[in-house]
Amino acid sequence: MIEIIQVINKRFNLFLSLCLIISMLLLSACADEVLSGNDNNNSILLVLSDNPANPFAGYLGEILNAEGFQGYHTADLDELTEVFLNDFHIVILTEMVVSNEQRIMLEDYVNNGGNLIGMRPDVSLYDLFGITGTGEDVSGGYIRIDTTSSVSAGLEDSTIKFHGSADTYTVSGSVITELYYDSTTASGFAAVALNEYGNGKTAVFSFNLGQSIVYMRQGDPERAKLPGMPISSDIAGSRLIDLMYVDSIDSFNDKTKINIQQADEKMRLLSRIIEYMSSMPLPRLWYFPDGADAVLIATGDSDMGGYDNINDLFNTVREFGGRASIYLYEGHGDYLGDISNIYLNNRTAPRRWISEGHELGIHFDNTASLSDLNPLPTEQRFLDWDTTQEVFEYDARFFHTFFPDAPPALSVRNHYVTWLMHDKEGNPEFAAQGILQYEHGFRMDYNAYHYSYPWQGGLGYQNGSGLPMRLATSFGEILDIYQSDTQLADEVWVSELFPVFKTLANQAIHEGKYAWLNTNLHPNRWQEFKPQAMQMFEYANVNSIPIWNGLDQYDFVSMRDRAAFSNVSWTGSTLSFSLDAQMHNFNDNTMGLTVMIPLMYDGLNLNILKKNGADIPYTIKSVKSIEYAFIVLEPCYYIFSAEYI
Ligand SMILES: [Zn+2]
Repeated sequence: MIEIIQVINKRFNLFLSLCLIISMLLLSACADEVLSGNDNNNSILLVLSDNPANPFAGYLGEILNAEGFQGYHTADLDELTEVFLNDFHIVILTEMVVSNEQRIMLEDYVNNGGNLIGMRPDVSLYDLFGITGTGEDVSGGYIRIDTTSSVSAGLEDSTIKFHGSADTYTVSGSVITELYYDSTTASGFAAVALNEYGNGKTAVFSFNLGQSIVYMRQGDPERAKLPGMPISSDIAGSRLIDLMYVDSIDSFNDKTKINIQQADEKMRLLSRIIEYMSSMPLPRLWYFPDGADAVLIATGDSDMGGYDNINDLFNTVREFGGRASIYLYEGHGDYLGDISNIYLNNRTAPRRWISEGHELGIHFDNTASLSDLNPLPTEQRFLDWDTTQEVFEYDARFFHTFFPDAPPALSVRNHYVTWLMHDKEGNPEFAAQGILQYEHGFRMDYNAYHYSYPWQGGLGYQNGSGLPMRLATSFGEILDIYQSDTQLADEVWVSELFPVFKTLANQAIHEGKYAWLNTNLHPNRWQEFKPQAMQMFEYANVNSIPIWNGLDQYDFVSMRDRAAFSNVSWTGSTLSFSLDAQMHNFNDNTMGLTVMIPLMYDGLNLNILKKNGADIPYTIKSVKSIEYAFIVLEPCYYIFSAEYI
């Protein structure tokens, strides 16, 4: 079994090497533009510290990536010097204890014009943040953003959940977000407050934003520890959603708020604070390709759909200019599944599908361990690491035996969207399935899925997010595999599939609920859902929503995360910066990476925008009430200047 994995890894590495060579050839035309800059920063510094109380400090970096501030620097608290700090005009302190010496250094930094954002800061820094502690803790609860403040105007104005603990303060500066005990009861304390100190500015979060985002996206890690829990009533196994919404009483992410992007809005609040504090307009990368408001990811769990349906689904998506991912179901090996079916019907088809840009993956089924053939009593049957790993290895071997020249899939969704709650050693771990999938070469997980008995979904975002972000373990280790929500399962919405897609797409376009929307179109039910699927694709085409597959999404997101702004400077009233976005993609797609810069800064308006010394046009887009200039690029290295008058 291990040999098979090594072979797969070798194939994957070979594939990556080939991609790198191809990308180097493709990019040789833009290599001339590369200039080496000494000042390799985008002027944001994230300060980390070995703090056992806060394993999720590093996840703030993922938040900065998601929000498009690529190229930020990180440093350990122990490495900080006053000279080093002065290179940055925004410093973000994760939750940590600081020494007296470090406190003085941070105070001097802000006093001299630096800007500091703190997550649940050390008590010794309270003066800097203009707060006085009350000694009370609020565990979990809600926050409410003040949308009458110019800093947070346009963001969500109803209460949204946060996870983890919040400290309580009285505030001498200004409160821009209030802490709530529950969805309707204000605490009178600040969740986020701004302050001015000397020549600089500070902002304090009373809760740990990194932890709050991880928990909202991945659910409650404590639930993974409950004996015999969490359990979905229809499969006797567990799903990711069991960590988020157990029942109507105990709802970790608050089902009634599912149509609000509760995680993303908190991240956007951080971005607004960064932009408000910054002593120059800051360049960012937009969430989606080509300045789009949404992308539709077309996927299908084959579930014995057979060659004809799979082929027709791929061809239909292609007619609308899209590409799909289909995960082939082979079952438990006691009958012929879809891998066998395709091989028997048209063994050359996979080569054609892949050459057309589609992705062919595997729909793993580890539920045999839960079946009635299992001699254990029902309550003792659970999904374990070893059984799941055997299924992964068996199916991967099967797939590659039949289709040896198919590249390994990067995206994945399991049959019944099962989710392991225990790691290799049998310890409770809410990211166990992510670890296993990462180890088997997967980089994009679609098991966050709006489906569970008796709850069948809900229009919106179960993980509070329309954005793909990496999974983190309960120890804060960030796994190089992204999670992206599947909101549009055919089996859940049935006759409402197209109307629900249309609503979510319209919310993305008109209400700033930007999202990667993922639809699961089962090939075994393709004839039933084809008319609605065609309506979705047509609507996507008309509204400039690209139709991509899992491979495309991973390509784009990983390219975007590896891009970096540097040499960001503000001279007179001209912003200049470099962007290194040379990472090329696997799937021969131009991708349309989009740079955004504020249209207005400090009473000045963007006048002339230059790329590599030449004037370039830009489009103007309002993002939740703030206007930005959008510039669409192909992967390369660029130098920009933006003159404001
Ligand atoms: Zn399935």
